[in-house]
Amino acid sequence: MELKLKGIKTEKKKAWTAFSAFIRMRDALKTTGTRTEAVCYSCGKTYPAFGVGCGQAGHLIPGRGNSVLIDEIGVNFQCYNCNINLKGNWVGYERHFLQEHGQKKLDEMKAKKGQSERITAYEWRQIAEKYKQKLKELV
Ligand SMILES: [Zn+2]
Repeated sequence: MELKLKGIKTEKKKAWTAFSAFIRMRDALKTTGTRTEAVCYSCGKTYPAFGVGCGQAGHLIPGRGNSVLIDEIGVNFQCYNCNINLKGNWVGYERHFLQEHGQKKLDEMKAKKGQSERITAYEWRQIAEKYKQKLKELV
């Protein structure tokens, strides 16, 4: 495989873009059975999963540190209002997370927040490729 790496910021951004698309498609299929709409993890309303006015991939653990940025359990479809305007709407997020995964998992996720993790440009590239592939497998 040809590998021309860009700067680490660019690779990280691409990894996030690929991961976010995967999360939104996964949750669209999971919550509405469609490829176009998904239910917000925090408020339970339905929004477009892609395109204009679409929701986002929102984090249980804020801060977007490397240890929590790409996490299939800790990132779920969230509407713009909850993710941005309500700064994650974490009350609704945690309630849903507890129902789905339980307290132990929630504690584990929270403990990750303070961990720092070094991820190289090459690893970001691999993450991007992985999630592009996973998205293809869904659609
Ligand atoms: Zn919402």
